Amino acid sequence: MFAAAEIGLDERVTRFVGERHRLLIGGQWVDAATGKTFPVYNPASGEVIAQVAEGDREDIDRAVKAARRAFESGPWPRLTPSDRGRLVWKLGDLILEHLEELAELESWDNGKPIRVARAADVPLAADLFHYMAGWATKIEGNTISISVPYAPEARFHAYTLREPVGVVGQIIPWNFPLLMAAWKLGPALATGCTVVLKPAEETPLSALRLGELIQEAGFPDGVVNIVTGFGETAGAALAAHPGIDKVAFTGSTEVGKLIVQAAANDLKKVSLELGGKSPNVVLHDADLDLAVAGTASAIFFNHGQCCCAGSRLFVEESIFDKLVGGVADEAKKIKVGPGLDPNTQMGPMVSETQYNRVCGYLEAGLSEGAKAVAGGGKLSGKGYFVEPTVLVDTKPDMKVIREEIFGPVVAAIPFKELDDDVIKAANDTIYGLAAGVWTRDISKAHAVAGKLKAGTVWINCYNIFDAALPFGGYKQSGWGREMGHDAIDLYTQKKAVCAAL
Ligand code: NDP
Repeated sequence: MFAAAEIGLDERVTRFVGERHRLLIGGQWVDAATGKTFPVYNPASGEVIAQVAEGDREDIDRAVKAARRAFESGPWPRLTPSDRGRLVWKLGDLILEHLEELAELESWDNGKPIRVARAADVPLAADLFHYMAGWATKIEGNTISISVPYAPEARFHAYTLREPVGVVGQIIPWNFPLLMAAWKLGPALATGCTVVLKPAEETPLSALRLGELIQEAGFPDGVVNIVTGFGETAGAALAAHPGIDKVAFTGSTEVGKLIVQAAANDLKKVSLELGGKSPNVVLHDADLDLAVAGTASAIFFNHGQCCCAGSRLFVEESIFDKLVGGVADEAKKIKVGPGLDPNTQMGPMVSETQYNRVCGYLEAGLSEGAKAVAGGGKLSGKGYFVEPTVLVDTKPDMKVIREEIFGPVVAAIPFKELDDDVIKAANDTIYGLAAGVWTRDISKAHAVAGKLKAGTVWINCYNIFDAALPFGGYKQSGWGREMGHDAIDLYTQKKAVCAAL
């Protein structure tokens, strides 16, 4: 089924990928109730590398019941915060111990360069668990002095408790499979919730391996359940299940809206991290070398398959040719190839569907009059490879400007000088996930940062992530913030307690 030896993978990776992949429900690895499986592909070749259990409504139901049991009874709710924190920390340690193995698995399944998986995806996932482990012992309420005007003589002792929100359904995408699992699981586990996780059908393997590490760390059965399957079946069943208290979703804005509808029936809590069309604004006084490297990496990192990709590049006219020429040169230098090749800087699109989608946007942009100063097409041969592309001569109403492409395609747009029109153009999108500004003038930098309608603004840098820094969207880029203290709020609810003295 797969030519592991040819690729030269760690023997643990080839053994794992070759195993039968089942669902993790109530601490047991089980086949889907229907017995069905679905194929997982290597996007660098289009070949099938594994078969994975195709979970559906019945499996989701079993997983939700297991998560409910684990939340209400058994060892999990009885653990001290300190014990819970230790388990979460241990999971972070196990990820680091298996760094090379997880990086290879991620690269093989998702197509991302192995060097990126090694340096970013896996260490960031471990760091997220280590960071969240500390929060387990720091979840606090307040004491509140109350006056109660209609009972002036009475005295009360009032305080708040922060309690876990309950059983959480988590649906994650394929662009950072292990890291997205960590962003979701870390705060849920630190706060004492239990989880049913549905990985993306394109990239289920690292989540399944993570499931094994969760068991090795010693989490009680049923605290984390993993159901692989399709979005329209398993994902939709999870979002609508009455036994779920909260749904946490990362993916397209389109599906985010379906999640909200599914959750509306019983008013589940919902948090969403959705799409983006992020502006990067470069002023004439920017450090040009820094801005070229930074704005190129803002779009080409992870093949542009980033919700926060800097896909609209606004450049002051006086430096437009130099800056855009520099970004185009960077694009042409990028070594595109299979993720597992150590020299690869950009891998394939994750799937045939995503490849066709990105190629469709390129065709639409070029046919509507945009010009490619780098790339502009697909690469011939096996696999889902697209050229890193820089477009100019775009118009504000073109599809490539309005819609999220989720590929290595940036549109460069000149502006005369920094004024309200530039900010208006940068904010002219339904999204508001991230933005960047490049200038040596700190006053202008902070003034622009204040005006950009985005959940994150980077100044003279881009794609800087940290477990302590909240991340999430304005407008249709989502609800709530992941990571940092905010993530603890997402997975807890406040109870006010009032005692008559
Ligand atoms: P989706 O939003 O469809 O997928 C994200 C997750 O949601 C996957 O686990 C998917 O399962 C699941 N899902 C799909 N449909 C439903 C549903 N009806 N109910 C519940 N869960 C569902 O993203 P795509 O993979 O289709 O990518 C399409 C576009 O979405 C991309 O081109 C990009 O623009 C955007 N996107 C944004 C991401 C982000 O980080 N914000 C990440 C990924 C994509 P399954 O994989 O089985 O379909």
